[in-house]
Amino acid sequence: MKPKTLCVHAGPGPDPATGAVNTPIYATSTYAYARFGEHRGWEYSRTANPTRVALERAVAHLEGGADACAFASGMAAIDALTDLLQPGDHILAADNLYGGTYRLFTTVTARHGVRISFVDATDLDALEGAFTPATRMLFLETPTNPMMAIVDLQAACRLGRARGALVVVDNTFLSPVLQQPLALGADAVVHSTTKYLNGHSDAVGGVVVTATPELGEQLHRIQNSAGAVMGPFDAFLVLRGLRTLAVRMAAHEEGGRAVAAFLAAHPAVGKVHYPGLPHHPQHDLARRQQRGFGAMVAFEVADLAAAEAVCNRLQIFTLAESLGGVESLVCHPATMTHAAVPPEERRRLGITDGLLRLSVGLEDPEDLLADLAQALAVISPAP
Ligand SMILES: *Cc1c(COP(=O)(O)O)cnc(C)c1O
Repeated sequence: MKPKTLCVHAGPGPDPATGAVNTPIYATSTYAYARFGEHRGWEYSRTANPTRVALERAVAHLEGGADACAFASGMAAIDALTDLLQPGDHILAADNLYGGTYRLFTTVTARHGVRISFVDATDLDALEGAFTPATRMLFLETPTNPMMAIVDLQAACRLGRARGALVVVDNTFLSPVLQQPLALGADAVVHSTTKYLNGHSDAVGGVVVTATPELGEQLHRIQNSAGAVMGPFDAFLVLRGLRTLAVRMAAHEEGGRAVAAFLAAHPAVGKVHYPGLPHHPQHDLARRQQRGFGAMVAFEVADLAAAEAVCNRLQIFTLAESLGGVESLVCHPATMTHAAVPPEERRRLGITDGLLRLSVGLEDPEDLLADLAQALAVISPAP
C-alpha cells in the first residue's frame, strides 16, 4: 500500500464489539474477568488498553516494525529504552540530539551507572572510533536538531550492529512517511508523537517501534513495571492525527521548501540549514535516505539582538518550543530547547545566539514568506 492509504487504514480496523469505524476511547482502568481464573485478554490498563493498542499497531505498521509501545511522552519512551541497559553499559549517542534527550542521558541515565558519550555521528570514522567494548546502545537522530545534519543510517546501523549495540533512531523530525529507519537496519525507532504523528499540538506522547517481537515484549514488560503509559484519550487523538499524516507531511514539505529557498536568498540571513537545499553538505545523502526533506528549517541572523527582533516581529510564526503541528512555530534554540546544553558545547555544535529554528506549518506558504519578509526587514544584513 502507498503511504496515504496506509495512514488512513493502519491499525486493527473497526471495533470488534460494535463495528465503530474508529477505535473508541476505552476509558477504563480495569476489565471484568469472564469467570474465576479466566480474563478476556484485558486485565488492567497499565498493562494494555484497546485504544492504546490500536495506536501501537498503527504506528508499528507505518514504520514497518513488529511491535510498538506507546508512552506518556517522547521522553518516557526514550527513558524506557535506557531501562534495557545495566550499570557499566555504555550509550554512544549522536552529539546533536534533542535537548531533552541530552538532559535525560547526562542527568538521569548517567546516575544509574550507565556511561554516555557523544560523537558527531555524521562523521562515520569518528563514529566507528567512539565505540567501546561496553557499548550496548547507539542512539541516533537524523536530521539532527537543530542543525539539520544528516546521519547515514545504513552505514551507522551497520557499525552499531557489528559491535553488538542496539541501534535506536529518533525519527520525530521526519515521521515514517518521510523516513523508515528500521528498513535501513535500526533495531528500534522512537517518536515524540507530540510532534508530526499527532500533528495538532494538543497532546504529549511518545512511542517506540521495534524491529522484532522480542524487543517489543521487553519494552512492554518495562512499561508495565514502570508505568509511563499513554492514556486512552491521547491515544485516540494521535490515532486520529495519523489518518492525515501523509497528506500533512506533503503540505508541510511544500512550505518547508518555500521557506528555505526564501531565507537562502535573503540578505539579512546567514547560513540556512535545510537538507532540501542543494548547498546542504549532505543533500545527496538526504535524497537517497529520505522520501522528502521535511519542514524543519534553521537559519542564522547576525546575533542575539537580531534573533530577538525577528521573533518579536513575526505574526504568523508563534514563538514556542515544539514542532510538527499545523501552526508554524519559531524557536530560539540557545535560550529555549537547547538551554540545558552548556554554552561551550552549543558553540561547538553551531548553535549560535543568532540561530533560529522554524517548524513550518500548514498555512499558505505565501503568507509565511510575507511574514518572514516583514520580520527580517527590521534587522541589518548578516555578516
Ligand atoms: C519533542 C522531542 C522529544 C521529546 O518528546 P516529548 O514528547 O516532548 O517528551 C524527543 N525527540 C525529539 C526529536 C523531539 O522533537
